Amino acid sequence: MEAKKKEKKIESASYDCVIVGAGPGGLQAAIYLCRYGRDVLVLDRGGGRTRHAKRIENFLTHSIISGRELIEKGLAQAARFGARVERKTVSSIGVKNYPAEEAPEEAPKIPTQEGPFFLTETAGGGLYRSRTVIVSSGARDVLPRIENLAKYFALSFFTCVDCDGYRTRGKKTAILGNSEGTLRLALAIKRMYTKDLTVVLDDYAPPPGYVDEMNQEGIEVLFDSPASLLGEDELRWLELKSGRRILCEAVLSNYGYRLNDAFLEGLKDRLKRDSTGLKYQTNRHFESSLPGLYIVGPLAGSDQAIIAAGEGAMAAMDINKKLIEMYSD
Ligand SMILES: Cc1cc2nc3c(=O)[nH]c(=O)nc-3n(C[C@H](O)[C@H](O)[C@H](O)COP(=O)(O)OP(=O)(O)OC[C@H]3O[C@@H](n4cnc5c(N)ncnc54)[C@H](O)[C@@H]3O)c2cc1C
Repeated sequence: MEAKKKEKKIESASYDCVIVGAGPGGLQAAIYLCRYGRDVLVLDRGGGRTRHAKRIENFLTHSIISGRELIEKGLAQAARFGARVERKTVSSIGVKNYPAEEAPEEAPKIPTQEGPFFLTETAGGGLYRSRTVIVSSGARDVLPRIENLAKYFALSFFTCVDCDGYRTRGKKTAILGNSEGTLRLALAIKRMYTKDLTVVLDDYAPPPGYVDEMNQEGIEVLFDSPASLLGEDELRWLELKSGRRILCEAVLSNYGYRLNDAFLEGLKDRLKRDSTGLKYQTNRHFESSLPGLYIVGPLAGSDQAIIAAGEGAMAAMDINKKLIEMYSD
């Protein structure tokens, strides 16, 4: 029997802005937009990088806050100003022109003249119409397959020098990775935090001379793969695939991260990338090459909570300004 196709229904409500992702970027944008009196829908699938941060120490006014608490507080603050937040996974974003006869009656904030609007689709068939979109869906770390990772993650196993490099101060530290960047990171960590360093290069051969240079700096370089993190409560050893054990109190993993952007696939011809080819190009207000679609956080810029929040605020201010201009013509 032919399976019945689930009908996609556009929600009758139209939003000034649909925000993808309730991390610091998306929530800060929601707070600004709601305080301008805009109708905002935040779609978030749950999880996210910030929630994994157990100890954020570099966010102004919070001497120490967990990522989870930061998000919970942000959600409550956004809700207080009227943001609607739904637990949904965005599967695609499309952009359409507005045929006058289809303009929704109950959408006084959306101009009825021809003009693009966005249709954001969620897994399960929800379709949400909006004048603008902010993509703040973040990134996810590429992690090595390593036993006991969950036990030590964000406590003594770190992935970001700006976030947690400080926590390697004076500690026996292993740096894991598979690129020239891993060696550069080791040199930077030596300058800033600890001289007691071992680099484990996993499936990567550096250009000639590099290892000698590292050894001259007193940094040991091993060609091996990480296998297991060992210790009672505190991390004590990193065990490698070869069976060798390295005494260490902290691990900094440098395998990079991937953007959460699969849902932008349909817009790939309209969204320009920056010179690295990895991130999206935006203007200084974080508007992408597709007018009305803004991209904040690691997809376009830096991977720090306070910066993502600032970018969200800037995007929201620009969106509000544009919506005011649209009404006045
Ligand atoms: C272990 C760890 C420690 C860190 N420590 C610090 C620190 O000390 N200081 C600091 O400044 N930064 C820290 N960071 C980095 C910080 O978490 C990021 O900079 C921040 O997450 C970026 O915010 P964001 O809003 O762009 O993305 P995120 O916080 O990642 O939020 C993105 C949200 O979008 C959602 N999402 C993704 N795809 C979809 C989809 N298709 N549909 C719906 N929702 C979707 C995700 O579930 C998530 O909730 C740390 C990160 C990690 C992993």
